Amino acid sequence: MNAYQPHAASHAFILLEVLRAREVLAELPALAEHAEPELLTQVIEEAGKFVGEVLSPLNREGDEVGAQWKAGDVTMPPGFRDAYQAFWQAGWPSLACAAEDGGQGLPTVLEAVLHEMLNAANHGWTMAPGLLHGAYECLKHHGSHAVQARYLEKLATGEWLATMCLTEPHAGSDLGLVRTRATPLPDGRFALSGTKIFISGGEHDLSDNIVHLVLARLPDAPPGPKGLSLFVVPKFHEDGSRSAVHCERIEEKMGIHASPTCVMRFDDAVAELVGEPGKGLNAMFVMMNAARLLVGLQGIGLLDAALQKATAYAHDRRQMRAPGSNSRAGEADAIALHPAVQRILLTQRAWIDTGRVLAYRTALELDIQKHHPDAARRAAAARWCSLVTPVLKSAWTEQAFSGASACLQVFGGHGYVREWGIEQHVRDARVSMIYEGTNEIQAIDLLVRKTLPDGAASLRALLAELAEDSADPRARAALERFEHFVQHAVVAATTPGGTASTDRPYWLADDFLRALALLLMAWAWSRIAAAESGGKPSAGAAFWRWVWPEFEMRMTLMDNTLAEA
Ligand SMILES: Cc1cc2nc3c(=O)[nH]c(=O)nc-3n(C[C@H](O)[C@H](O)[C@H](O)COP(=O)(O)OP(=O)(O)OC[C@H]3O[C@@H](n4cnc5c(N)ncnc54)[C@H](O)[C@@H]3O)c2cc1C
Repeated sequence: MNAYQPHAASHAFILLEVLRAREVLAELPALAEHAEPELLTQVIEEAGKFVGEVLSPLNREGDEVGAQWKAGDVTMPPGFRDAYQAFWQAGWPSLACAAEDGGQGLPTVLEAVLHEMLNAANHGWTMAPGLLHGAYECLKHHGSHAVQARYLEKLATGEWLATMCLTEPHAGSDLGLVRTRATPLPDGRFALSGTKIFISGGEHDLSDNIVHLVLARLPDAPPGPKGLSLFVVPKFHEDGSRSAVHCERIEEKMGIHASPTCVMRFDDAVAELVGEPGKGLNAMFVMMNAARLLVGLQGIGLLDAALQKATAYAHDRRQMRAPGSNSRAGEADAIALHPAVQRILLTQRAWIDTGRVLAYRTALELDIQKHHPDAARRAAAARWCSLVTPVLKSAWTEQAFSGASACLQVFGGHGYVREWGIEQHVRDARVSMIYEGTNEIQAIDLLVRKTLPDGAASLRALLAELAEDSADPRARAALERFEHFVQHAVVAATTPGGTASTDRPYWLADDFLRALALLLMAWAWSRIAAAESGGKPSAGAAFWRWVWPEFEMRMTLMDNTLAEA
């Protein structure tokens, strides 16, 4: 079984040649000094070394041993704590945090590349630090001075890990149903009571403290989302005493066995408010948005790990002669020469490369949104991040699962048994379609919350931007068709107030998101092709042959839905 190994040069190519990160970052005064290609490449290479040497070797045993619960404590699989201690002490969590908080102030896109590699190598382990940066940003934007003084540096450096405590047994996608109560205490703090489920990393032995960010309801709060406030409660308080937060059990799951998915009970746990009362979801969105991009990167990484395994196997395994083969070597050809196997491998390559272009671009846009001197450019960046993040989260996690399954097919019966480790990727990848807002919720977010309210103005501006850069006539024609559809069908389904006038957009949402994903992929291919300048062969041909035709199908499905509505 071959463990995943990062190819730093492939990541650097997308970042430096396709996206021209140097020129982009040079426009941002806060980051210009970190724009040198040598520096960016060096960080990516060092990240690759850590991931390949430390994390990849722990993946298989982590899956087999899993996280272990005993009397409220959770022991992580062998080597996991040491790896985490080495990780934060080497400064990896602090890459993109502000220098004044103990961070390194480097571009966000380096953290994106790192997270893609971490997830590819060891999804279970990466679940723990996966929430760290979001928690840091959340407290940086919404925490009081006292809260920031207590937690910001510990989260920036990664010395302490963080959780996101939203879900309850009866409240999943609908967080407005959250019941956990927050009772004011005389000293200005609050006592939290309730049960949260499915909390990733709610308890473990990776770090010496765990910082829980918890959605709860104040006594006089109105029902629904507007009654939610955000609180912070640590596992250990400053005086060393343990909080009244208990891990009741961990879930038995289909995959990511190394990640403890915890049922957490809060028994009057002493907490501090983050942000304003009733604005909890607002504050939490900072964390959730960061996590959504990371889950999209998770999809790309998991697909890459599965493709690496399948490619190595396909070059090794020999069965029958490939069509047109003149080979006299051995009794049969490598299955990598059979068109059916090539199709599987090249299709995943097309998804990975375009996913990287889009995800790294989104990470660059996050920095532009924060640091660009021109307000119009900042607004355009905010538009890109808002519209592209749900697409990345949804389409690339779906592909991670279906693509990992296709990679398993390359192994035939050997893929279905554990020996080669490919089945772990299929099991692990499935959850990324569910958490951080299910893929259905992402589609509704894109169409109903982000496209209808402004009469599709933001989306049309994004489509115009894609059209400027799309040389391929197929992509240009498709962009026009989609624009026309947006203009006439979607906007017609909107009331003057900007909400859906019928249930029609809800029926369209999934196809709408997929069609936009394909348009974005087509744009990404035109950028890759321009950077390769007609040189080495790419998976571009595979994209146009086997992936792109889905665009037509999605448009037809949407036309049918409208005709029936
Ligand atoms: C391994 C794992 C780790 C997790 N980690 C965390 C964590 O760290 N913190 C945390 O708070 N939560 C976590 N979760 C919870 C996760 O975010 C929820 O499972 C998810 O939000 C869905 O909620 P639910 O499971 O209650 O499903 P439901 O909300 O009950 O949804 C069931 C189905 O109905 C669909 N659906 C629901 N409402 C709508 C709608 N309005 N329109 C269209 N379709 C709809 C959903 O898409 C889904 O297909 C984790 C879950 C898992 C499995």
